[in-house]
Amino acid sequence: GKRFLGIIATPLVSQSGYLVLVQDLSELRRLEKVRRDFVANISHELRTPITSLKLLTETLQEGAASDPDVAAGFIDKIHLEVDKLAQLVTELSDLSAIESGQAVLNLQPGDIRTAIKLAAERLSPQAERAGIILGVELPETLPRVRLDENRVEQVLVNLVHNAIKFTPKGGKIKIGVRTQSQTLVVYVTDSGIGIPEDDLTRVFERFYKVDKSRSGGGTGLGLAISKHIVQAHGGSIWAESVYGKGATFSFSLPLA
Ligand code: ADP
Repeated sequence: GKRFLGIIATPLVSQSGYLVLVQDLSELRRLEKVRRDFVANISHELRTPITSLKLLTETLQEGAASDPDVAAGFIDKIHLEVDKLAQLVTELSDLSAIESGQAVLNLQPGDIRTAIKLAAERLSPQAERAGIILGVELPETLPRVRLDENRVEQVLVNLVHNAIKFTPKGGKIKIGVRTQSQTLVVYVTDSGIGIPEDDLTRVFERFYKVDKSRSGGGTGLGLAISKHIVQAHGGSIWAESVYGKGATFSFSLPLA
């Protein structure tokens, strides 16, 4: 956009005359827009499940509750919407703790095997239900990295969970590692719907979803949180994809 320079501070008098503080206002404007969009996004993300809950409970009140089968279906839907709200609140408080530097990482030299195994174990029932093969391929010995095991597991759960959400039945997901210039690179690759090239960096932005109609019911916060966690380790995270054929999410951790 246009750059705009302006005076935003009261001039300070010094011996040599005035010291004028000039700052790039376009950056302040951009940050203000980011903040406004953030609030608008949260409102939208909260309103969607709340609207559903209102409709579901009203329909129950209007008589749907008298048929036990119908009522059970409604209650399942209510449960899902409440879960969505709970997830949003958890992710928001996670994100704000990490962004404000309140979430202190417990970095220890260690092996990434446990984090990968735990993440894969946690999500394999879900992969199975979705008809997707989830595989882990690790070398016998792994170089040690400095990591907060729980946080790295959280990143892996996010990546594998996404891979499951965006991969149709019959697809495959693989978790693997490789060493690359003083880092260990961990990747999660899937044979799913993929990501258009223009969106490959944007998916790490808060609330960003490639396609709202097939967003898989997520909040759009998982990758933003993952990015913060990886950066707090001194690593980086990136996505590659052949649109329509699958996506690969990788992150690097410095070797211990
Ligand atoms: P959420 O999954 O909750 O929507 P994320 O921040 O984890 O939020 O992901 C942001 C968006 O990135 C998703 O909505 C989806 O559009 C895209 N995305 C993430 N992972 C994948 C993947 N493995 N394949 C295709 N698209 C993906």
